Amino acid sequence: MRVEVDSDRCVGHGLCEATAPDVFEVGDGGYVIIDDEAASSCAESDLRTAVNNCPSAALRAIE
Ligand code: SF4
Repeated sequence: MRVEVDSDRCVGHGLCEATAPDVFEVGDGGYVIIDDEAASSCAESDLRTAVNNCPSAALRAIE
């Protein structure tokens, strides 16, 4: 599973980064950058938590 971000929706408050800091990092642009390699080795439950808890619905899980 991997995760995509809609940078137009992301407001950069970093809830996802708090859930899986190896995968998500709020960049200088004010939206999150996703490390695909880290995502591939991350617990799927953590990725789903990040997707489901994003208040802006900016994250999407790709099966
Ligand atoms: S939780 Fe959602 S809105 Fe917040 S930084 Fe992550 S992707 Fe962006």
